[in-house]
Amino acid sequence: MPSRAFEIEISNFELIAACWGPGVADHVAHRIATRLCEFGLRIEQDTARRRFRVLGDVAHDGPVPEDRLADLSYRLTAEPIDIEAMTGEPGAGVHAVMTWQNDEPPRYRGPRDVRRDHGDDGLSLYRNDMHLIARAFRCAAEGRMAAHWQPVRHHADPSRILYHEGLVRFDDPGAGLSPSTLFPALERTGIASTFDRVMVRHVLDELRAHPDAVLAVNISANSAHLNGWWRGVLTMLAAQPDLAARLVVEITETEPITHIHDAIAFARALRATGATLALDDFGAGFTSIRQLMDLVPALVKVDGLFLQRAMRDREPCHSLPHLVGLIRELGGTVIVEGVETQTMADLAYVSGAVWQQGYHHGRPSAARRGTEQAEPVARIVAGRG
Ligand code: C2E
Ligand code: MG
Ligand code: MG
Repeated sequence: MPSRAFEIEISNFELIAACWGPGVADHVAHRIATRLCEFGLRIEQDTARRRFRVLGDVAHDGPVPEDRLADLSYRLTAEPIDIEAMTGEPGAGVHAVMTWQNDEPPRYRGPRDVRRDHGDDGLSLYRNDMHLIARAFRCAAEGRMAAHWQPVRHHADPSRILYHEGLVRFDDPGAGLSPSTLFPALERTGIASTFDRVMVRHVLDELRAHPDAVLAVNISANSAHLNGWWRGVLTMLAAQPDLAARLVVEITETEPITHIHDAIAFARALRATGATLALDDFGAGFTSIRQLMDLVPALVKVDGLFLQRAMRDREPCHSLPHLVGLIRELGGTVIVEGVETQTMADLAYVSGAVWQQGYHHGRPSAARRGTEQAEPVARIVAGRG
């Protein structure tokens, strides 16, 4: 969120200089200054070159309205800056992680921060993360990124589909771009929320193009607040209740929620538009019962690990029915993930979970089947199906 003074900075400037040299850091700063001018802003750059003060609007000589700046840091962060010519590394790219002066700074600003967590490998990890992320954003810009859709089905009647979950896929052979490599990199570098903005827009476009579809988008816990781009999206959803009613937002907690009050405000605002909140991977990651009680999600997805443990021949773990019972007691509708076989589906069902997801019910695929029969999530959630 812009501060009064409208000061925006390249928060990873020092790290870029440490990883690729001061020439590359200057190149990045120059690119950002150019972009700010292209946005029609009058700016002043500090002597260290990493900070920019937004002085006004070129077209309307005067202060810039805050809503015009709300998305700015994400739009700047989303651009991969080509550094191949400077580094000699084919396809090398880097992102300027832009933050307003009052934003929470990203975890990694300087070399000391990455070394603290990753020792001497820190800088090479950061370089690899950036190259991977730059490839992902290039795919997005060139139409080589898409969602694959996986259904959440009813155990007893597989023709009943609660919704389809969008899982990102890239068309970039050989780049090793998969969710399991990309999302940890996005979270480490502080770019997860910028990526989520792109994916949320993608899923909203899909909802507009297919008026029968009910679709879910995953967002990182870092994006679950109202200080950035969500505000504009929620205003739009409030004005289009039909769209909101068909959107499910799954919060994925691969990182802990650092500001629970912000996340609670986000959850409330999302609900107020008529959209549905889901808590993903419950029982794995950082989700806790406390968070369940605070965020009051309509849907809670139980991590596939619980089903796998329940299926073990030796010392099977019988916690699944208790977990399902607890979630229902707290007001949530349960979805069990990772259902791979009929036996697993039956076990999840007798444990109390009628809504299920996994290879047994359908693998993620570019085409959605059965969307026409998707049922209004709100009705099912209200009936606690
Ligand atoms: P998730 O949201 O919990 O998604 C479920 C993951 O399990 C997906 O992996 C899916 O392909 C996989 N899966 C589905 N059914 C089965 C099954 O029966 N058995 C097994 N073993 N796996 C199954 P994927 O697509 O690789 O995504 C991994 C994670 O990456 C997702 O977990 C989510 O946390 C994150 N992710 C994926 N797409 C996005 C996205 O667009 N935005 C964000 N922020 N995160 C995403
Ligand atoms: Mg998910
Ligand atoms: Mg999950």
